[in-house]
Amino acid sequence: MSKNFNDSFRTQGLRKRLLETLRSKGFEDELVLEAMMKMPRHYFFDGAFVEKAYTDLAFPIGAGQTISHPMTVATQSSILEVKKHEKVLEIGTGCGYQTAILMLLGARVWTIERQRELFEKTSRLLPELGFQPKFFYGDGYKGLPSYAPFDKILVTCGAPFVPEDLKSQVKVGGLLVIPVGGDDVQRMIRLRKMKDGTFKREDWGEFRFVPMLEDKE
Ligand code: SAH
Repeated sequence: MSKNFNDSFRTQGLRKRLLETLRSKGFEDELVLEAMMKMPRHYFFDGAFVEKAYTDLAFPIGAGQTISHPMTVATQSSILEVKKHEKVLEIGTGCGYQTAILMLLGARVWTIERQRELFEKTSRLLPELGFQPKFFYGDGYKGLPSYAPFDKILVTCGAPFVPEDLKSQVKVGGLLVIPVGGDDVQRMIRLRKMKDGTFKREDWGEFRFVPMLEDKE
């Protein structure tokens, strides 16, 4: 389906308003807001849905999946504390919007998607928009052992538990941000790897993600 790659005064205005909504809900990480201002969210939607791109809602992106709410993307990007040039592994490429925000924050991104349709669509779209992460089609539970370790790992689907493979692929001092819980609702967990290999756990409360699925089909 056709995309609208025109960022008009109107879409810029809608985006400013969306970011004001996030601020009014208490979000105040200016670096993340700046990255979100730079990235037109409607580029990730089919042409007819420009308005929908600028509401704080999840939205279908194909293959039964949804783009995360803007507030969810903002929160995950912020608590991941991305620094320039860091190596970030993203699980759940989806439409690529979160990937683009991580790259605008200066990260080098390796991203895995298990739905072939989305993998193919997004690995065409992001380079068209000037982003060149490393794309992988596969199972995020396993991470990417041959590219590990990563400074940060971000999981953008709801996991029933924290996969050991992902824990082992984070650097000491690094962070793993992962929504953990049931199919409907999860808690946003941040794990920091300590020198002795244990993890310090912090909880950012309830969020809703599509499930992190194990075996394909
Ligand atoms: N960051 C994405 C979020 C998409 S929703 C965006 O903003 O568009 C979560 C994505 O995780 C979906 O695309 C889903 O297909 C993918 N996913 C689910 N289980 C997975 C797994 N085991 N490995 C990799 N990706 C997975």
